[in-house]
Amino acid sequence: MVFPDWSLLFVGVASICGILCWFLRCRGIRKSFWNKGLFMKIMARTEKPLFRIAYTLYTRTKLGYMFYKRQVKKARQRFPTGHSSAQPIEINGIKIIPIPVLSDNYSYLVIDTTSSQAVAVDPADPQMVEACLKEEGVSLEAILCTHKHWDHSGGNEGLRRLHSACHVYGSAVDNIPGLTRSLSDKDSIDVGRLNFKAFFTPGHTVGHMIYLLDGRALGGPSSLFSGDLVFLSGCGRMFEGNASMMLSSLDTVGCLSDDTLLWPGHEYAEDNLTFAAEVEPNNTARENKFQWVLQQRAQKLCTSPSTIKEEKDYNPFLRSHLPELHQALGLQQDPSEDWTCFRARVLGELRRRKDVYKGR
Ligand SMILES: [Zn+2]
Repeated sequence: MVFPDWSLLFVGVASICGILCWFLRCRGIRKSFWNKGLFMKIMARTEKPLFRIAYTLYTRTKLGYMFYKRQVKKARQRFPTGHSSAQPIEINGIKIIPIPVLSDNYSYLVIDTTSSQAVAVDPADPQMVEACLKEEGVSLEAILCTHKHWDHSGGNEGLRRLHSACHVYGSAVDNIPGLTRSLSDKDSIDVGRLNFKAFFTPGHTVGHMIYLLDGRALGGPSSLFSGDLVFLSGCGRMFEGNASMMLSSLDTVGCLSDDTLLWPGHEYAEDNLTFAAEVEPNNTARENKFQWVLQQRAQKLCTSPSTIKEEKDYNPFLRSHLPELHQALGLQQDPSEDWTCFRARVLGELRRRKDVYKGR
């Protein structure tokens, strides 16, 4: 999800300012309101409520859908062939096609080439995904939705209208549009030779899920479709969860086998690795990956997939257990503090710094 959403934030700000003006006028102190010091104090105190209002408008009202539609339209005009160039990969008859949508999202098409059946992950722009289905000559059997944000779920209903037999999978907790099959942690989804396992990974939203395509049965690496939980060298913002919840979700990813391919929901690699350099300037793995990412992005090439092994080497959000990171953040475990609580504190501090660093 792209946030802050300035247009929605504006609505929130306007609403709050309107209420404040009315309130202050009633009390006869409107003039002093415009005193800069007082204004700044009020804004500082209301920053979080304003953010919550904007977020609520985005996720729970028609305004969010209207904003998403506008973003889709703008992205199609700005990037007629997508924001990046992505090369499909094929391993033993299973084809994975990243589809660049909106300004920096990725949807994915996973195809069992023997049965010509396909699964779409987070098909945010139904037109782009439909074009890919037609080009490949495959049938859409399932949509796996990681979470409710429109830039991941916005195409569910449009594609369902075109493919009535297709089911939309996701967490019932997350209010996903078009959901027809709700999933719990470790549920399986089978389509042809494709076997996915869903993992419940709250933190970014209350019902966020990730999907692991089992590669072992097919003689190749597994693939993780991580939505907005994990990105190349990053993790999602904790819009609806706390650091303990997010840590538990990230540990689910950290426990996967090292050769698992990571297919995230956004092209954030360059920004994320730039931030990672702030906290781990001497990490050679990070620097090498950064140089490679710069070369890729200079040609607008997709930076996915990385692997879980790579992420463990440079993604600070998967490294909350490491003393060098604690030192870089100036954090120490209190004698009475549980190890997991301490790691959650480290993760919370990392996320806070990232929020301030890029607002993402
Ligand atoms: Zn999101």
